[in-house]
Amino acid sequence: MPTRFKRLTSALVAAVFVVLMANPAHADFNPIGSEPDVPHAQPADPDVPERGCATTLSDPTNAGGGIPAAQIVYAWSEENGNRYEQFVERIAKIVDRLDWSLDESSDYDQHVKLSCRTGPAGYARALVVPEKIEDAEIGGETAAHVIEDDLVAAGYDPVNRVYMVFDDFDGTAQAFCELLCVATTDEWDSGTMLHEFIHLFDVDHAKVTETVLHEDADVMSTQWHTWQVDQEFNNYYDPSELTATFYTSAYPHPRKANLATWSMLTAPVCCDVGYSNDLLTAQERTIEADAPYGYPTGFTVAGGGWMQVTPPGPESLVSSRYYDGRRSLTMNVQSWAEGSLSVTRKPAVTPGRRYKFFARLTTGTSGTVKLRLTWYNASNVPISTSDGPLGGLTSDWAEYNSTGVAPTGAATVQLSVVSPAGQTFVYVLDSLQLNRCDNTRTTDGCRLNSGLPTS
Ligand SMILES: [Zn+2]
Repeated sequence: MPTRFKRLTSALVAAVFVVLMANPAHADFNPIGSEPDVPHAQPADPDVPERGCATTLSDPTNAGGGIPAAQIVYAWSEENGNRYEQFVERIAKIVDRLDWSLDESSDYDQHVKLSCRTGPAGYARALVVPEKIEDAEIGGETAAHVIEDDLVAAGYDPVNRVYMVFDDFDGTAQAFCELLCVATTDEWDSGTMLHEFIHLFDVDHAKVTETVLHEDADVMSTQWHTWQVDQEFNNYYDPSELTATFYTSAYPHPRKANLATWSMLTAPVCCDVGYSNDLLTAQERTIEADAPYGYPTGFTVAGGGWMQVTPPGPESLVSSRYYDGRRSLTMNVQSWAEGSLSVTRKPAVTPGRRYKFFARLTTGTSGTVKLRLTWYNASNVPISTSDGPLGGLTSDWAEYNSTGVAPTGAATVQLSVVSPAGQTFVYVLDSLQLNRCDNTRTTDGCRLNSGLPTS
């Protein structure tokens, strides 16, 4: 269709996107910001792989006929002048680090699709386009909407593109969608830009900052220090199960999504070694598929107790929902025998490899439980168990765990929460996870715990 009509249609479509002004940060221009180093330091520059171009256009403003991809922009104003040549290589490396962060967050290979242009020699100059922001504040702070207006006026396409804009002036770390979507920052580091970029998928950090008592280090909660994306696979990103969706903002916000499906990213491919992984399904992790009072799909009880999907009640007891969704599993412990609540399915394991079972538990009263890994052979006969420490539950949503090495002959593992006999109380279970511990950059090969107690 004619370009003029196409742009009008595109603008109308884009205009219904939610306007998202996330956490505007007042920061002085800091072109060489410090890179995040949690959960471990990023590699040195030469070792960060060059992401490369997913698509190349002769005219970077006209992306309508292309594939979805992010366009990188160096934004300058009269205040500091055009310092493109000074900074272009640095910006390209920050974008490479941003892509590395996404990829290294999990055991899936997944990358940001980047748009380049023909003409300039070399990857960095093809990747980063300069744009003068005519209406930038001189001696003051320039908001993201000013940059968005400028890109619209310069003819940049709202279709198939989001824009990552590095401000060479006093700007804001902000995600903003109106006619087109921009992630801006004047703090030039990969964590901050990755944070704002993820906001463009309409992932909020409200539920992370509103945690009951704990906060997992995640680029959406602490982008200044951390680079990894949703290490529990239950906030907004699960590359292992693309049909799984998660609430992306605080209650009662209804939107559910999975960042791993975003058109700006390549399709995730299993498996390599990254900071986190998970061998459970989204239902086993979050208990979201069933209605309150119902029987929790995928779980089994043996011995002293009975279970149900947690009935309605105080928000703090219905779910560790800031970590996943809004449901949980309630176990009504009975005193006559040891109670064992298990994930029915037994994930496959490799003998000699370490595994770590995590879960969050809380109680309105008091009681003790431990987490158990039961190793089974290929004939489905139990071989041995690895028990975590016996822990006293509290009204906190603490994270408990058990870790063990799959013994010779092990083929599968069953995950259980075990309550010793002689107790009558109720506990609530949520946010389960089973890690394969082959991350070479943490001491036990698994992601770090964010709660207490640990084994
Ligand atoms: Zn934010």
